[in-house]
Amino acid sequence: MTDLMKTLHEDGWNRYGWPEAAGGLGGTILHRAAMWEALSRHGVRGMGPFEHLEILMPTLLAMGPAEFSAAALPAFLAGRERWAQGFSEPDAGSDLASLRTRATAAGHGYRITGRKIWTSWAAYARWCLVLARTGSVESRHRGLTAFVVDLQSPGVAVRAIEQANGTDELAEVSFDEVFVPAELVVGEPGEGWAVAMHILSSERGAFAWFRHCFLYRHLLGPLCCVDDNAAGDALLDLVAVTASSHTGIRSQEAGTPLGPAAAFTKLLLGAAEQSVHDTIFAAGTDLAVGTSDDEAAVLRQDYLFSRIVTVYGGSQQMQLETIARHVLRLP
Ligand SMILES: Cc1cc2nc3c(=O)[nH]c(=O)nc-3n(C[C@H](O)[C@H](O)[C@H](O)COP(=O)(O)OP(=O)(O)OC[C@H]3O[C@@H](n4cnc5c(N)ncnc54)[C@H](O)[C@@H]3O)c2cc1C
Repeated sequence: MTDLMKTLHEDGWNRYGWPEAAGGLGGTILHRAAMWEALSRHGVRGMGPFEHLEILMPTLLAMGPAEFSAAALPAFLAGRERWAQGFSEPDAGSDLASLRTRATAAGHGYRITGRKIWTSWAAYARWCLVLARTGSVESRHRGLTAFVVDLQSPGVAVRAIEQANGTDELAEVSFDEVFVPAELVVGEPGEGWAVAMHILSSERGAFAWFRHCFLYRHLLGPLCCVDDNAAGDALLDLVAVTASSHTGIRSQEAGTPLGPAAAFTKLLLGAAEQSVHDTIFAAGTDLAVGTSDDEAAVLRQDYLFSRIVTVYGGSQQMQLETIARHVLRLP
C-alpha cells in the first residue's frame, strides 16, 4: 500500500481533490471518491493504514494549524508518514465525554498523560490526533482539547493488540508527560468536542463511500460464486450505502459537515459489510484457518473484521442513540 501511495503521489493522482495550499492539485472530494472507486475496480482491496486520510485530513485542513497541516498532507499522500486517531480509552468508549487522558499547560505547550486504546494503525503512525481533558472531569465534553501528538516523542509507548483475524490494525497507546507544543492544538483549547464531531461526521458519513467501493469488489469479485438471491440482498444493502454516503460526500464537498445524520450511513455500512461477508461465507468460500490461497486468506480476515465493524466510529446502539436524540429529537 505504501508503494501504491508513493506512485499515486508521484504521478499526481492522489493529489487531486486536495487544496493546492496543502500540496494538492485542487478539486473536491469527488475526485478522491472517483479515484478510489477506480482503484477498487482494479483490485485494490482497501485503504488500509491510509484510511485516516479520509477520516482525519478533512478536519485537520479545516480546523488544524495551517502551516503544519499543509506539510502533513503531502507526507501522508506520498506514503512517508501515517496517522492515527486517539479518542477511545479503556473506560471511555461510547461515553467519550468521560475520557481521562489529561493535558496540562506547561511552558509554551501542554504535557499529556493517559492511555488510549483501539487506536487503529498507531503502530505504523507518526502522528496521532489525541483528544485530551484540559478542563475538570465534571466539564465532560466542554473540557476537552484536540492535539496533534508526535508518536516519536519521549513518553509515548505503543503496544500492538493481537487480533482474531491476524491483522495488526489495533494498538494501545500510552502517554507519560508527553510534551506537545501549543501550535499543535487543533481548533481552540477547550473546543476539542467540536473537532471530534467533525472527524466522526467524516468517519461515519463520507468514509462509507470509500469503504463500500471495496465491498462491491468483494461481493462481485472472482472468488465469489454466490447464490443469486443472497447476492441480490447484499447488493441492495450496498446500494443503500451508495445513496447514503453520497449525501456525505456532497455535504463535505460543500464544506458543511453532515453532523449527526452521518449516523444513518454508518448503520447502513455496518449492515452491508456484514451481509456481503455473510453471503461470501454462505457460498462456501474457504474461510478455514490455514487456507493457503492468498485471496481466500484475505477474505477470511475481512469476514472476521466484518463482525466488529458495527463498533468502530461508535457502536450501532450509539448511532441509534444519536439519531434519536439529535436527528429525531425524541425525548
Ligand atoms: C475495528 C475498530 C477500530 C477502532 N479504531 C479506533 C480508533 O482508531 N481510534 C479510537 O479512538 N477508537 C477506535 N475504536 C474504538 C471504538 O470507537 C470503540 O470500541 C467504541 O466507541 C465502543 O466503545 P467500547 O469498546 O469502550 O464499548 P462500550 O462503550 O463499553 O460499549 C459496550 C457495549 O455497550 C453498549 N452501550 C454503551 N453505552 C450505551 C448506551 N448509553 N446505550 C445503549 N448501549 C450502550 C455499546 O453499544 C456496546 O454494545 C475502534 C474500534 C474497532 C472495533
